[in-house]
Amino acid sequence: MTEPFDLSRYAAAVFDLDGTVWLSEQPVPGALDFVARCRELGLTVTFATNATAFSVERITELLIECGLGREGDAVITGGSVVARSLAALGVREAIAEVPPAMAAAIAAEGVEVHAVPDSAPGDGWAAPAPDHALVLGASRAATFGSVERIGHLASMGHPLYVTSLDPGYPALGRMEPGGGMLVAALRALYEVEPYVLGKPSREYADVVRSQLRTDGSVVMFGDSQRADMGIAEHLGADGVLIAPTGRVRGDQSRPTYVTTGLDAEIRIHEEA
Ligand SMILES: [Mg+2]
Repeated sequence: MTEPFDLSRYAAAVFDLDGTVWLSEQPVPGALDFVARCRELGLTVTFATNATAFSVERITELLIECGLGREGDAVITGGSVVARSLAALGVREAIAEVPPAMAAAIAAEGVEVHAVPDSAPGDGWAAPAPDHALVLGASRAATFGSVERIGHLASMGHPLYVTSLDPGYPALGRMEPGGGMLVAALRALYEVEPYVLGKPSREYADVVRSQLRTDGSVVMFGDSQRADMGIAEHLGADGVLIAPTGRVRGDQSRPTYVTTGLDAEIRIHEEA
């Protein structure tokens, strides 16, 4: 039996960003109070996003500026996890269509990052190699051509790493396009299976776990059932799904609790 939601039962709170605590870097109603209540109750606070446009340092600054973040909070981005995972996989060279901050994070891990070439890439890319990889993130500079070429290289057997399959994220009055939109475009052309390293991957969960600063019980808040409730499952955490419409899908990770927002009641999720 699931007990009614009680924040004081947890030692750590993990928050997704877009659509959960902020929209277009502006706190959503109730978020400032809710995060403050977590701190009063002694929970550690971790922010975990799949976003790749900003570096960890920049997101930390933005969170502090808007009042959600504090010095010392852990911040995890899709870009930081992909960068770390590529290095751990032994990748030395990557052809990447990713935002500049993510390219910098990958390069900082010692991986040589190449832009997508206009024609067939040079030496070493004619066949798959264990230290070569393709990376696709939410790049605003991506073109028809660059997405096709990444897809073509992936169809030749080069492994393709992506941050997310979610096509976009809620922003103020609009959707912010995500890396999953480019993955969908690529898969409209080529039958390739990308490896997801952002949420809800095990790699991402491992990074979150390493930054929780407690071994106690964890609660994860997020608005993407696939990404955020998936991470909750890997962490053995309770998942609170922010579902403004109240809709919960039967074919994705099951939330423990649901709410329409951090300013609303958090209810036990009853299976329909
Ligand atoms: Mg979100």
